[in-house]
Amino acid sequence: MDFKLTEDDLEFKEMAREFAEKRLYPNAEQYDHEGTTPKELIEECAELGYFGFTVPEEYGGLGLSATAFMGVLEELCGGCAGFGIMLSVHNSLTCEILKVFGSEELKQKYLPSMAAGEKIGAYCLTEPNAGTDAASLATSAEDKGDHYLINGTKTFVTSAMYAGVFIVFAKTDPDAGYKGVTCFIVDADSDGITLGNPEKKMGIKASDTREVSFVDVKVPKENLCGELGKGFRQAVTILNSGRIGVSFQAIGIAQAAFNEALQYSKDRKQFNQPISNFQAIQFKLADMQTQIDAGRLMGYRAAQLKDAGEPCHRECSMSKLFCTQMANMVCNEAVQIHGGYGYIKEYAVERYFRDARVTELYEGTTEAQKMVISKDLLKE
Ligand SMILES: Cc1cc2nc3c(=O)[nH]c(=O)nc-3n(C[C@H](O)[C@H](O)[C@H](O)COP(=O)(O)OP(=O)(O)OC[C@H]3O[C@@H](n4cnc5c(N)ncnc54)[C@H](O)[C@@H]3O)c2cc1C
Repeated sequence: MDFKLTEDDLEFKEMAREFAEKRLYPNAEQYDHEGTTPKELIEECAELGYFGFTVPEEYGGLGLSATAFMGVLEELCGGCAGFGIMLSVHNSLTCEILKVFGSEELKQKYLPSMAAGEKIGAYCLTEPNAGTDAASLATSAEDKGDHYLINGTKTFVTSAMYAGVFIVFAKTDPDAGYKGVTCFIVDADSDGITLGNPEKKMGIKASDTREVSFVDVKVPKENLCGELGKGFRQAVTILNSGRIGVSFQAIGIAQAAFNEALQYSKDRKQFNQPISNFQAIQFKLADMQTQIDAGRLMGYRAAQLKDAGEPCHRECSMSKLFCTQMANMVCNEAVQIHGGYGYIKEYAVERYFRDARVTELYEGTTEAQKMVISKDLLKE
């Protein structure tokens, strides 16, 4: 496959790099410390069209490919991975599920305000007792004639505090296993929705993560997204996009950590010479960039298969598996190259190390990716 980005893709990537250098790199430490994403930052990105990156132009988005979006996401996540995941979930999961499975009416109703960044999307799949085994979710949606009543608790919901729209997976048939799951678009200002306290996380602290409870939340029938009982399949399909997004989040963090480590190795002197003179350090640098480049190729392969409308389930999981493990390895080595200073908050690698960890956990753990890949291999 040819992984050359188009002129347009490269232009968007360059713009994102400039934005990250100006607005994210200098402030990421503060966002991490305060555990928040400023509203002004969201508004600035909305102006740039980042909340409608892959939303078709007819619904007010930029209508660009997943491949182009991934170039942008890498740059933004290098600058601030906590903010980057908000854009990834919003574009790759919430707008995407509406785009792929929503009725024309639902698309008209939600996509323009989501693309404009006025309504931020949050994805509510995980529950306290249903993580990797997402099909065992207990949230219910009871048919009440012209509407559904949703009851249940979702956990680890990214961007819950900022959300205008919740994509909620609930059981419309509690006895039908995964075939009883249906997807709903729920307005965040609906009566009966309560947000929990923000989770105190190890990393990506700029990202908001919290529990969301639904008690007798009335959802109009027309807000059923896709088909009754097909919600689990839809969630799995859409997670392919999300997994490419997390791959590029990981690549962005890893490249930023590498850049810091490279510079530090030239600046830091021991034994009267830069530590970059030592082969032990040189080989680390060689391994790190080789792994990052390999991850980027895997990520672009998955994105381009998706853009071409070809099957990409295995490739998306392979990309996520490889890139997220790679990012943890690279960040670990970046800390090592910094010696004791890598353990101190003043140095960005300390944050990159913490931020990278979650990429192996969400949108399917490392083990979950191996389950997907091996199942696909064994069915051949
Ligand atoms: C910061 C953050 C943000 C998140 N954002 C969202 C969000 O926006 N929306 C959302 O829906 N979810 C979100 N999640 C949830 C995330 O997707 C889940 O945490 C993840 O799917 C794992 O589920 P779990 O935590 O319940 O772990 P569990 O499923 O309990 O897994 C525990 C361990 O057991 C392993 N395991 C489980 N089953 C198997 C098996 N069959 N074989 C081998 N190993 C297995 C897992 O790999 C893991 O190592 C977020 C999580 C975090 C930490």
